[in-house]
Amino acid sequence: MTIDQFNFNGKKAIVRVDFNVPLDENGNITDDTRIRGALPTLKKILNDGGALIIMSHMGKPKGKVNPKFSLGQIKDAVSKALDAPVEFAEDCAKAAEQARELKPGQVLLLENLRFYPEEEGKPVGIDKEDPAYDAAKKEMKERQKEFAKTLASYADVYVNDAFGTAHRRHASTAVIADYFDADHKMLGYLMEKEVNAVDNILKDIKRPFTAIMGGSKVSTKIGIIENLMDKVDNLILCGGMTYTFAKAKGGNVGASLCENDKLQLALDIIAKAKAKGVNLVLGVDCVAGDAFSNDCNTQICSVMDIPEGWEGLDAGPETRKIFADAIRGSKTILWNGPAGVFEFDNFTAGSRAIADAIVEATKNGAFSLVGGGDSVACINKFGLADEVSYVSTGGGALLEAIEGKVLPGIAAIKGE
Ligand code: AMP
Repeated sequence: MTIDQFNFNGKKAIVRVDFNVPLDENGNITDDTRIRGALPTLKKILNDGGALIIMSHMGKPKGKVNPKFSLGQIKDAVSKALDAPVEFAEDCAKAAEQARELKPGQVLLLENLRFYPEEEGKPVGIDKEDPAYDAAKKEMKERQKEFAKTLASYADVYVNDAFGTAHRRHASTAVIADYFDADHKMLGYLMEKEVNAVDNILKDIKRPFTAIMGGSKVSTKIGIIENLMDKVDNLILCGGMTYTFAKAKGGNVGASLCENDKLQLALDIIAKAKAKGVNLVLGVDCVAGDAFSNDCNTQICSVMDIPEGWEGLDAGPETRKIFADAIRGSKTILWNGPAGVFEFDNFTAGSRAIADAIVEATKNGAFSLVGGGDSVACINKFGLADEVSYVSTGGGALLEAIEGKVLPGIAAIKGE
């Protein structure tokens, strides 16, 4: 079932959203992107004449009630965004009566799901090494089913619109789907958009396909690099991992970030790219600094010859040109991870060159997906988020999807 096919008139819908919004010390929302992201789904349900039960997690309360993470703090903001009054259920597992009384057009916001350990389904207060751990885990899985069943009992239909948690098999993201038949569970609009964006780069690929992987370490990106190696034409590796590759090839990388235990891995990636005919593009020069700070002294040098005490903090001018040339001619582009320490204004040029080339390619008809952690912050810093095809809302979920893993939150609905 798709959300567009379903008429919510007279129905109660329980919707899993990601309202894990950042709050300041006074409990004010500092970025409401996630609330705005869920609005199309929530409004469709209300406009159809349905009643809405909204559920989410916030922060990491670790299975305990903690007012710091109460969703009560955002009730008024949700009400304002929906332009409708919102009731609040102070205990998400004891909201049956409030749910029963909901009339079409009314909204009930449940308290933070993660106040219950059942949401995540992991036993608390017991070490993995403990001989009793397996039994505790089994017991918690049973409790998780009961918790999911309770949530399911509030509504006629389940909608999952929380891409950010789709890679977790939690009560509200996956287990709950078992209590609805195929005609009464569906992805929300935001989830549909995310799934389509991932399909564009993993299934319906228009060539050439260029993936740009940056960030700090090769070790955290290896799963994605390996999966992409079978799909891409150009693979640009940049950011901190540049120096692990340079050292593996015999270079001197000075004080640059370098994973000395991953040198062989870097050589394996180079060999694999060659064997598969993938054009692996690595940085040739860098902007090196004499300290890890915005105001340090800088010099441009070869990535193979960085002086003692200096560290590569951004892509150099020659590298920026090579990267931009590879990106400009592409028809499918994935960007994950900055090319330098973009948080420092003096080291944004590499990432900026990538962003500008992606924008240009997008104008020429390419599909461009930017996502996964810091690349989103980076494209936002440049004010270019609206000039690429899609900026993903899911950090870990997006990366796991690109690695080719099945996301439990999506599988629970689509049955794949
Ligand atoms: P990740 O979370 O792995 O995507 O890494 C993102 C982080 O990598 C950002 O905070 C960047 O500042 C950092 N980064 C990018 N290039 C470098 C570099 N050359 N040296 C140190 N950190 C870097």
